Amino acid sequence: MAGQAELFDITIVGGGGAGLTAALYASRGNLQTGLFEKMVAGGQIATTDDVENYPGFPEAIAGPDIAIKMEEQAKKYGAEIIYGAVTGLERDGQNFRVITDQGTFNTRSIVLASGANPRKLNVKGEKEFAAKGVSYCATCDGALFRGKDIAVVGGGDSAIQESLFLTKFASKVTVIHRRDELRASKILQQRAFDNEKVEFIWNAVISEIKGSKKIETLQLKDTKTGALRDFNVQGLFIFIGHDPVSDYVRGLVECDDHGYVITDQDYKTNVPGIFACGEVRKGSTRQLVSACGEGCSAALAVQAYLDNLA
Ligand code: NAP
Repeated sequence: MAGQAELFDITIVGGGGAGLTAALYASRGNLQTGLFEKMVAGGQIATTDDVENYPGFPEAIAGPDIAIKMEEQAKKYGAEIIYGAVTGLERDGQNFRVITDQGTFNTRSIVLASGANPRKLNVKGEKEFAAKGVSYCATCDGALFRGKDIAVVGGGDSAIQESLFLTKFASKVTVIHRRDELRASKILQQRAFDNEKVEFIWNAVISEIKGSKKIETLQLKDTKTGALRDFNVQGLFIFIGHDPVSDYVRGLVECDDHGYVITDQDYKTNVPGIFACGEVRKGSTRQLVSACGEGCSAALAVQAYLDNLA
């Protein structure tokens, strides 16, 4: 492993679709490539059951399967995948120091591909019932809810796609959405409307999660009238979007008010030598196929940057 004494040409932060594709292109471009991943390779796809819209797989492909293959492919060409968390970046002349829980590494360039984490509801009971009925990952926890009545909160693609997946286990899935119209793509909406196990509660938010040892009741607030009511469930899956993982670069790289990293069209940040791609980047379309495309483009931009330095 390249340690303190060695110098990576490119260090990629995050092993989702964007980061793994950047690693593939950089290593095939003969750059000494390091990639840090703090959990498992694949990022959000590693916890997605079926990916139906990645070109070339008309029958869909399981998220974890595509993640494993992307990791294998990057390693095949020499990318070094290091399982560890990046906690900070520092400039060191023209190079950078990457501070991680595995030590400090030196690099000539950096690609930020750290993605985004599931957003929390931030209501009373959410922390208390985490892993006691509250989940953010249907692929991980769905099977625990066999034959149970569960709720999903959110109205986007994730909420609807994962609700459909959860019908494989649950006896009923109730989608709770704060408006009376879904944000999800029409094809997913239609599948949910056609599925007799999926029901909807419109114009409602969860104001409290209650129970004793496990989750038992959601307190719902009507967004039109403000009226409160209790709704009994044995599980709650929260899919209300994501927040960018960029805390380790705040103050060094320009971010917008939400923490998304700002880049130009060549994926360059305001700091020469630091690039960003995928869901951590402001303006990303948040699709696996575009994350991979951005990872490729960022790696090619790094190659051009390093060639110009030499
Ligand atoms: P999203 O599209 O941002 O949707 C978040 C949903 O949660 C929205 O319906 C939003 O309501 C609701 N919401 C946000 N904050 C809330 C709160 N505090 N309380 C209650 N509801 C709240 O997020 P996503 O579904 O995770 O999708 C993220 C991106 O990944 C999207 O671009 C999506 O297209 C993509 N994706 C694609 C697929 C696919 O192509 N099959 C699958 C998964 C995700 P409002 O609608 O009222 O804002």
